[in-house]
Amino acid sequence: MLDEVPNRKVPMPTILFAVPALWPEYRDTLPAALAEAGIADATLVTEARPEDVDYIVYAPASPLQDFAPYTRTKAVLNLWAGVERIVGNPTLTQPLTRMVDPGLTEGMVEWVVGHTLRHHLGMDRHILNPGHVWDPTCPPLARERPVTILGMGALGSACADALRALNFPVTGWSRTEKPGQLHGEHGLRKALSTAQILVTLLPKTPETENLLNADRLALLPQGAAILNPGRGALIDDEALLAALDVGHIGYATLDVFRVEPLPQDHPYWSHPKVTVTPHIAADTRAVTSSRVIAENIRRGQAGEPFLHLVDRQRGY
Ligand code: NAP
Repeated sequence: MLDEVPNRKVPMPTILFAVPALWPEYRDTLPAALAEAGIADATLVTEARPEDVDYIVYAPASPLQDFAPYTRTKAVLNLWAGVERIVGNPTLTQPLTRMVDPGLTEGMVEWVVGHTLRHHLGMDRHILNPGHVWDPTCPPLARERPVTILGMGALGSACADALRALNFPVTGWSRTEKPGQLHGEHGLRKALSTAQILVTLLPKTPETENLLNADRLALLPQGAAILNPGRGALIDDEALLAALDVGHIGYATLDVFRVEPLPQDHPYWSHPKVTVTPHIAADTRAVTSSRVIAENIRRGQAGEPFLHLVDRQRGY
């Protein structure tokens, strides 16, 4: 007689995709990524009874705002890198992960490198040259153009690598002490004082809001350019406009704003020294982000630690 074989099969999870507007993009990519991760039998739904849900794939635009009834949910998996619109939700007690997506990182590197080169090479002088002025002034080499990046996380450090590969001397500043980087108020002052081009890639938290105020903008070298693909709230808008008007800041290229879409009457739209890009620096890409989501669900099922877990105290 054959021994009875115990049924060791782990029950397959129920995954709620809670962002109806994004479902068409993920309808094929997420099942494919789940299959790659060995959890093809998972139940992937766009509606479910809260008590049946093991994982929630989430974005702030989701109609789901009350997480309290999701009593068996092991994790809320955010599709965006920034979590400021969800991290403070008092009903959210489940672990929260944020998106670190190779496709998103690639996009951010391209946006930052492209706009850095625009300012470094003074491209506008030649592209917008209505008077047909023959000005043979050569731009300096990248090695002579110091760049500072505030926020050296997944995105900031990838941008630093790409800029260094082009010979830009890059100074990085972040919250915690790390080799080869600056931190703290003293470090910030030093990082700002050399930045001919400043890139802000910090998350929005109570500590980073209005980080670039009038006093700190004044520390930048005369004529510095600012690229902000981080969050609008990092910069005191009035202080930036004033610094642009007096010529202390030479140019600002801004991708993110306190209010989005940027209201039509906002002075940034018409300012001659501001370029507005409409929050397009880096999008989460469905194919690569589906793999990140699937890997985290695999980890949750295997009892392994989640990737990219958000620290609620820090706010990012
Ligand atoms: P991340 O990996 O969490 O990195 C955040 C960095 O900011 C870390 O280096 C962190 O320091 C630093 N930081 C946080 N608080 C700080 C503080 N108070 N003082 C100094 N440094 C501080 O985040 P990420 O993936 O690189 O993303 C960064 C931000 O980019 C996101 O939060 C989001 O706002 C923005 N974003 C924008 C777009 C777009 O399309 N425009 C797309 C994606 C993301 P430690 O290393 O010491 O922790």
